[in-house]
Formats: sequence, structure tokens, C-alpha cells
Amino acid sequence: MDKNILLEVKGLKTHFFIDDGKVAKAVDGVDFEIRKGETLALVGESGSGKSITSLSIMQLIQSPPGKIVAGSIKLEGKDLLKLSEKEMTNVRGNDIGMIFQEPMTSLNPVFTIGNQVAEPLMKHKKMKKKEAYAKALELLKLVGFPRAEEIINEYPHQLSGGMRQRAMIAMALSCNPKLLIADEPTTALDVTIQAQILDLMIDMKEEFGSSILMITHDLGVVAETADRVMVMYGGQIVEEAEVKELFTDPKHPYTVGLLASMPQIDDDKERLEAIPGMVPPAHNFPQGCRFAPRCKHAMDKCTNDVPELYEAGPGHKVRCVLFDGKE
Ligand code: SF4
Repeated sequence: MDKNILLEVKGLKTHFFIDDGKVAKAVDGVDFEIRKGETLALVGESGSGKSITSLSIMQLIQSPPGKIVAGSIKLEGKDLLKLSEKEMTNVRGNDIGMIFQEPMTSLNPVFTIGNQVAEPLMKHKKMKKKEAYAKALELLKLVGFPRAEEIINEYPHQLSGGMRQRAMIAMALSCNPKLLIADEPTTALDVTIQAQILDLMIDMKEEFGSSILMITHDLGVVAETADRVMVMYGGQIVEEAEVKELFTDPKHPYTVGLLASMPQIDDDKERLEAIPGMVPPAHNFPQGCRFAPRCKHAMDKCTNDVPELYEAGPGHKVRCVLFDGKE
């Protein structure tokens, strides 16, 4: 494996075995890699499979009904799917940190912020309590708490949403993880606080040298933070490119639709364009291209087989028959 690659996901399939024998193929054959020091954004509408991809990496899929049925997830060459639960617990927090949309899903309401930032340091880095609290204080200052000496003794409910998100970032970074997974980290915040948290994440990435997997439906967040982007639809990657390339030359009709639905400051259109229809349910994908029922370019051959990911340029891949190279 290339030394510059931190995480390599191959053929990942995470399925949910639901009532009536139905199978929801939430993640259905996903391949990607994250380079060291890179921020990779995974974008798509709700139900596209992006959060299930991140939860699969962390092995936090609720089982039953969910199960990773195929593929490999290698962190610096080590296949996480072959680790015991104890080994995986060590990877979580130590090698991979995670930030969720709602901080209260990670922060425990009955423990102080200091306790929660210091705990992974005692557990994974074997620090004594005093040393861990000193490091926690340092981290709280680093993520921008002006009165960190007081915050360290406060409880999550005493903090605002933005402050809780800062505390969660401090917690996720406490063991200096190689990879930080941020799942919609700013969606629940006010716009001004969103910008502060994104700036903080960019600064922390520089400070800690971590790679970031940014899960978001917000293309503004992608433009601000990412080096490379993957667009997900129907449990599959449908387009992958460097961020500048994707914004200037999107190829997949779904990506084109997503970008057209974004407001532009210099645009005098009265209405934004919307992609017609909805993401199909994961237990009932259409035959062939999963985007076909919503695609204005759909033709007969689109509904035969699921299109492959075709090379549309250097580092630019598109899952669409319009780019299969055939006349
Ligand atoms: Fe549209 Fe066909 Fe391309 Fe699918 S394969 S995105 S239906 S043109």
C-alpha cells in the first residue's frame, strides 16, 4: 500500500436486513482512499449512504439489523474489519476521532467537560489524572475557549451549541488521531458559529496533521474545507474529483443538479433549480443507474446495468454512461 495513503476502503457493502426479508443496501460497493493530511468530503442528500459509510469505518453500525457484508477498511494497511472489539475500541479515539452533528450524542451530560476530554487520555495514552487534566486544559484553550479554567469544571448543558461542538472537537483530538471523521459538524449551528467551527477544524488539521473525512450535504462546507470530493447517491460513489475540478467542471447529472440548486451571489435567477423526485429507498433501488428516474439525460441503456465509475480526466471519475468513452 502507498505510504501516503492513510485509509483505503475497498468494495465496502453495509446492508440492513429489515422486516419482510427486505435488504436495504445502504452502502453498496464503495471504494476510496484518504491520503495523509488530506481533507476528503463525502457529499450527498440524506439517504445517500454517506453517514453509514462513516459509521462502517468506525464499526458503529447497529447489528442487527445492520451488517458489513463485504469489503475491507484498511488504516495504514491494517484491516479494521479483522480486529477484535477490544482492538477496535483502541482504534476509536486513539487513531480515529469522530465529531457528530449533535454534540450531545457524544458528550455525557453527567460528567464535566474536563472529565470527558481527559478520559481518553487516561484510557488510551495511560496518563495519570493530573497530567490528563493539564492536557485537557491545554486542548480547551487550543480550541478557543476564552475561560477554559472554568469550562473544564462545567457540564455540557451549561454550554451553548457552538461551545459544545468545540468541546467535542477537543475530545476527538485529545489523542492526536490520524483520522478525524466529521459527520455534518456544523449543520446544527448558527451560520456565524458554523464559520468559526470550520475555521477551527482547518486550524486543528494543520496543528495535528490529521486527515479529515468530512461528511456533509452542504456544498459550501465542501468548498471551504475539502481537497477532494466524492459524491454519493444510492449507496454508491457517483463522482470523485479534486474540489476545484468538481466545482468548475461537474460531470455527473446528479452533481450538476446539486450545484445548480446552490444559491449564487451573482446570479439573478428568480428560482433555484431543484432535482425532481427523491433519493430511492435503499431496499428498492431501480434497475441500472440509480439516478435514472430523476435524470433528464436518461436513455434506454441507463436502465440495463449499473454504470461503472469511468475515468473522465486525471483523478476525475464519473458513474454515468455519458462518460463511458463509447460513441
Ligand atoms: Fe443519467 Fe444515464 Fe448517466 Fe444515469 S447513466 S446519470 S440515467 S445519463
